[in-house]
Amino acid sequence: MARPIRAEISASALRHNYRRAKELAPNASALAVVKANAYGHGVERVAAALHDADGFATLELESAEILRARGISSPILMLEGFFEASELKQFAHLQLMAGIHDAACLQQLANASLSQPLDVFLKFNTGMNRLGFGCDSADALQAVEVILNAANRNANIRNLTLMTHFASADAEGSAGEFAVERQVTRFSEVLLVAKKVLDVREFKVSMANSAATLRHSIAHQDWVRPGIMLYGSSPFTDESATELNLKPAMTFSSEIIAIQELRRGDAVGYGATYVANQPMRIGIVACGYADGYPRHAPGGNNTGTPILVDGIRTRTVGRVSMDMLAVDLSPIPKAQVGSKVTLWGQDLSADEVAQAAGTIAYELFCAIAPRVRMVSVA
Ligand SMILES: *Cc1c(COP(=O)(O)O)cnc(C)c1O
Repeated sequence: MARPIRAEISASALRHNYRRAKELAPNASALAVVKANAYGHGVERVAAALHDADGFATLELESAEILRARGISSPILMLEGFFEASELKQFAHLQLMAGIHDAACLQQLANASLSQPLDVFLKFNTGMNRLGFGCDSADALQAVEVILNAANRNANIRNLTLMTHFASADAEGSAGEFAVERQVTRFSEVLLVAKKVLDVREFKVSMANSAATLRHSIAHQDWVRPGIMLYGSSPFTDESATELNLKPAMTFSSEIIAIQELRRGDAVGYGATYVANQPMRIGIVACGYADGYPRHAPGGNNTGTPILVDGIRTRTVGRVSMDMLAVDLSPIPKAQVGSKVTLWGQDLSADEVAQAAGTIAYELFCAIAPRVRMVSVA
């Protein structure tokens, strides 16, 4: 028999979650963010499930090529634009929308000889301090004016969207409000300059990631860019995916491949980090960090990471090994070799596992290893 570990990707959950984004931002178009192989879910599979989305956003040219090859004809935004000018031919050929975040990229685009012009998203840095044109001072806004003039004259640019990205739209309560408001205020300065400089030229605005799509309608504007919510995970720590009416797109599961009866004082796994303080049954699961399960998931005596066996909640014990981990079978006396184990997905959100392991579901999804069989389900 094949190793029982697998990840099922639900097309109906993906569609449900995309619809949620559309419901929340009814006046915006929604670009389904499918970078990093659709957050580990498989870009082809997600494209098939969301084939009628308003558009897609990605980062890797290969994944844009896959989307076009799969017959996707809606807009595709390249979130970080091109990494070298030689890619621009392919951008024009595939009609990709290019993110542009600095003057050098803008100049390279102006200098390129393209078969057709591109739609461009000019990215502004309103506080994240990663990518984008600065706009936090009078001098910076003067420079923005120069940039917008240059963009306006650039024959290789067709439609223009001004974009920014939030650093803390997922922060709790008033902290989130405040953080979003601050970036929106800064961005509104850019929009004022744009109205003046671009005059009759129409432009669009894009700000919202999942967190802002879910909570900050002020940021919805023309294009929202939901990522993690499409996969059924909550960007917040104070509101769960279920509470947000999101459905897990991935169910990561395996089986118990051995059972150990521990006596009091017996330890489990590398480093003997768990010691039984009474006789107990544990199950050995065919899943380890080489499958993408986080090695830092705690399994000490007073900790443990949530996991389901036959749909019943229990916890991991001991350290996660490369290919295996162990679970406490006390709540599931009927469990045996072959019992189904859910690492995360239906009835156990990846957010909960991530939180126990000190990370976020984004990282868990992206870390699913190639050796895990991934299958599409309706
Ligand atoms: C990844 C990304 C998103 C999606 O973010 P989520 O938090 O997953 O919704 C949106 N915009 C940009 C620029 C991104 O890089």
